[in-house]
Amino acid sequence: MSVTSPTRPNPKPLIVVVEDEADLASLIAQYLERAGMRVQVCNRASHAVKFLQRNFANLVLLDLVLPDQSGFELYEDLKASDINVPVIFLTGNLEEASKIHGLDLGGDDYVTKPFSYAELVARIRAVLRRADYKADLNLTKNVRVSDEPFDFCGAKITPVRLEITFPDGEITTIGRKELGILSYLNEHPGEVITRKALIHSVWGQHADVRSRSIDQYVVKVRELFKKKGLDLADFQTVHGIGYIFDPKKVTRKGA
Ligand code: CA
Repeated sequence: MSVTSPTRPNPKPLIVVVEDEADLASLIAQYLERAGMRVQVCNRASHAVKFLQRNFANLVLLDLVLPDQSGFELYEDLKASDINVPVIFLTGNLEEASKIHGLDLGGDDYVTKPFSYAELVARIRAVLRRADYKADLNLTKNVRVSDEPFDFCGAKITPVRLEITFPDGEITTIGRKELGILSYLNEHPGEVITRKALIHSVWGQHADVRSRSIDQYVVKVRELFKKKGLDLADFQTVHGIGYIFDPKKVTRKGA
């Protein structure tokens, strides 16, 4: 998904609602949208994981009983993938609510069904306010990304929001892998980065280095920049070895 908008002074928070009961999910979506939020409904745990791997979300509203996985399991999977998004559990009964306490899962809050929509909105707003203060930047399993926005070949990368801002003001969201690659290159300017080092940094030490997928991600990034007419001279493929990002040339030109 790409979010395109030239000016966004105060973007609406994106809430992912993971709830398999379609009627309930669409009612929740209506109320949250009325409260000034954007909503993505996922009826399956697997949909939610796929969505969150590719998109920044401000909060997940997570039903505990889902057809393909429990809400607890989904929560553990997100943590294991270092997708650190605030979570409010939706529980069917007090027994489940006490389980959340007992397991000390680290979710940000829970709401017991049936709930009032005013209460739900208030709890979401409270968690969003807290989250504003502690943006967790473990965006991929292995790269701890700096929270500072950085320039990459003329575009501004904003890690906390998984966003690239282009010189014309267009904002595009990128995936965590792409962000991991750009961040690793940015943290090692002027060094030849082997494909192996880059794969290990983004996919982990146990990743299969014969995998071609790193090249596919790099191609995707290059195409995005080229589409915006940006010069990629500072980001070169070193044939048979890997890549180099050398922004010094730009600095010299601009100085
Ligand atoms: Ca359910």
